Amino acid sequence: MGWPRQIFFGDVDAMFASAAIVKAPELAGKPVAVGGQAPRGIIAAASYAARAFGVRSAMPTATAIRLCPELVLLQPDRPLYRQMHERMQGVTARLFPTVEWSSIDEFYVDTTDLHRVYPDPASLGRTIKQAIFDETGLCCTVGASTGKVTAKIAADAAKPDGLLIIPPGSEAAFLADRPLRALPGIGPKTGERLHTIGLRTIADLLDPRWETSLRPLFGQRLHWVRELAQGIDHDPVVPDRESKSMSHETTFERDTGDPASLERVLRGFLTALARELRQESLAAGSVTVKLKDARFAVTTKQRRFSRPLNYDPDMWPTVRMTLQDLMKPGALYRLAGLAVTSLTPAPSGLFDGRRSKAIEAMDAIIARHGSGVMGLGGVSRTDDE
Ligand SMILES: [Mg+2]
Repeated sequence: MGWPRQIFFGDVDAMFASAAIVKAPELAGKPVAVGGQAPRGIIAAASYAARAFGVRSAMPTATAIRLCPELVLLQPDRPLYRQMHERMQGVTARLFPTVEWSSIDEFYVDTTDLHRVYPDPASLGRTIKQAIFDETGLCCTVGASTGKVTAKIAADAAKPDGLLIIPPGSEAAFLADRPLRALPGIGPKTGERLHTIGLRTIADLLDPRWETSLRPLFGQRLHWVRELAQGIDHDPVVPDRESKSMSHETTFERDTGDPASLERVLRGFLTALARELRQESLAAGSVTVKLKDARFAVTTKQRRFSRPLNYDPDMWPTVRMTLQDLMKPGALYRLAGLAVTSLTPAPSGLFDGRRSKAIEAMDAIIARHGSGVMGLGGVSRTDDE
């Protein structure tokens, strides 16, 4: 069976503790933890040697020292983590076109289109691990599957220094025995409730026996949770440089399926983003529209402009078309977002002289009086959801 999508997930093993050991190799093999001093401090990360004593992250440091009296306790070294993160970003950017760093030590890559270059996913996985180790000295566990959730659960199951490929068609069988808490959206509270009812594994979520107990617990989300439990997961890998650099999104007070109001929201975002582009002397080569539906499923669609642009009236027809493609009839959406992507320095001569003057004047008015005067009314600012 071919790969409809191929997603890799990489997660550095005990990142903070491992980084400290790379910096001070004499600590290798010793029980090392990063955290605050006892009596009030908490462990942030523990090496595998420390874990063998039962030391865990989020444990009070005092408890950790009681379990492991020879524990080497280190203070967090954020510049070091940042530096390692940047070097790993360099590696993934060199290897892959589409990378999403979801945290300082975790990333997703969509390798679907690399099949011809890397026909064997296991060898691609080893390539990723080796490249990160060569660059930073850090061990990274890698999982791969047809979706992000299964790839991550595979990596979690293969730690430390592991590599686990879940081929297409075997996602549900792999997930079946995994604990419920491995699934995103099942936090400690929900996990506890499910445990009380009698559920233990991801497969239990699919068992019709529990239908009546699960329905009130998950409501409308049940369908989505059950899809994830079978490894059905279309969540895209969203390049972080692009999504973080210039994007706006908002959660609506009430879910909406009205094309006109979604267009109004995106038009407002585009006006603001285009102005930011001009202020930075940048132009966007493409645009990404993001929608989150009432079941929290996120879909995105990207489209390229015929040339890099930074004047919103020129960009709008493409954004509008992208939104129309993405919307499903009858669906209700809780969040809409817009990102301008593939940013490049604005080519000089993007506009003729008269038009540049008019745009400059408009931007000056906005700078003096705020964006409200230029038709951003009714659109809320970016939120952090
Ligand atoms: Mg990690």
